[in-house]
Amino acid sequence: TLSDRLASTFKNLRGKGRLSEADIDATAREIRIALLEADVALPVVKEFVGAIKERARGEEVSGALNPAQQIVKIVNEELVAILGGETRRLRYAKTGPTVIMLAGLQGAGKTTLAAKLALWLKEQGKTPMLVACDLQRPNAVNQLQVNGERVGVPVFAPEPGNGVGNPVEVAKQGVAEAKRTLHDVVIIDTAGRLGIDAEMMGQARMIRTATQPDEVLFVVDAMIGQDAVNTALAFQEGVGYDGVVLTKLDGDARGGAALSIASITGKPVMFASNGEKMTDFDLFHPDRMASRILDMGDMLTLIEQAEKAFDQEEALKAAEKLTGGGDFTLTDFLAQMQQIRKLGSLSKIMGMLPGMGQFREQLDNFDEREIDKIQAIIQSMTPAERDNPKIIDGSRRLRISKGSGTQVNDVNTLVDRFFDAKKMMQQMAKGGGMPGMPGMPG
Ligand code: GDP
Ligand code: MG
Repeated sequence: TLSDRLASTFKNLRGKGRLSEADIDATAREIRIALLEADVALPVVKEFVGAIKERARGEEVSGALNPAQQIVKIVNEELVAILGGETRRLRYAKTGPTVIMLAGLQGAGKTTLAAKLALWLKEQGKTPMLVACDLQRPNAVNQLQVNGERVGVPVFAPEPGNGVGNPVEVAKQGVAEAKRTLHDVVIIDTAGRLGIDAEMMGQARMIRTATQPDEVLFVVDAMIGQDAVNTALAFQEGVGYDGVVLTKLDGDARGGAALSIASITGKPVMFASNGEKMTDFDLFHPDRMASRILDMGDMLTLIEQAEKAFDQEEALKAAEKLTGGGDFTLTDFLAQMQQIRKLGSLSKIMGMLPGMGQFREQLDNFDEREIDKIQAIIQSMTPAERDNPKIIDGSRRLRISKGSGTQVNDVNTLVDRFFDAKKMMQQMAKGGGMPGMPGMPG
């Protein structure tokens, strides 16, 4: 996997300053291979890797990560962004039924998807209706009817004297029928061809014009790999669409098609279909797809762990400074509070310090909102006041409380608490142990 390859390319060194050109090149090479192996189209790979290199050059090296991890982190963020960032939700019509039209090649999975989507909508309290507009294949209408029955959703199909042979007419009548019978979502299944075909595009475009869908979804088989781009572009030009649905993600395709299509068309991938069962369907998750494309799940876990460990190290350093007493200032105090907030739990960090176990209960009861207040108060102080809180007299307290939107009493409490903490720490540092604490080493 990419994780393995990158791990062997780099030793676990921590970088300094900026990423070196050699680091960037070596990592970019591995990422390029990984993207090509995932069947991402070559022009997309080139553009993407180029953009990554550029961003990597401008990046400060974090103390937490080695160069390879740093670049993978960038790659992951960019992948997620191109794949749509947050999952894009369906847009529903404000009045009348929401019309969703499916388009795509034959075998892409449209008819299957129509029923899956209907079931998914039904589970969310919608009352969908399916419209069978694939009049090309002899069995297509029946296939939709069978699927509709499986998910308990009605299917509008052409009958003699009711638009037979004319998919545009069927689509129009289907939407009218949904309106009449108060179904709130209409899903239009359309015909596909094995290859891109002008007549099929023309028909789909006419259905689009006639029904004015709220969403046109381009359905594409994730297994088609390199061909995905040409197909996606042809449909964009021939029919136009608002979002993409990837099917057959249960296969072993790494999902490069998702990146190629999203990057070339700028359209978000909205849903993923991953199996033959009607419930094998979900919103598309850009982050999951990003790690599938790069095959770097383990690397991302490592990165997360490294960052967490680094935060903990920093917190411990701050805590050591605290116990060192001496030049401990309100600025340190604030930095500490912010670090604590980042790690989530005061008691966890303080618990790491020898002799602090006693205070567990008190610390556990510490109100996180207190930190907001403390932060506001300290930020309203001048640098001189932070370094030497002794100078904070009555009029300064009034000014600080006004500036921080707190009461003078809050400022008093904070200053008192700071001096208490400092005194306690100084005593500890002198080796006297905690006051009144038996068993502390002297
Ligand atoms: P259409 O021609 O676009 O309407 O495609 P169909 O819905 O008829 O699907 C074509 C074939 O792909 C059928 O055999 C489906 O069972 C199968 N299929 C559709 N979606 C998926 C999927 O997510 N995973 C798998 N494994 N097969 C699928
Ligand atoms: Mg079909």
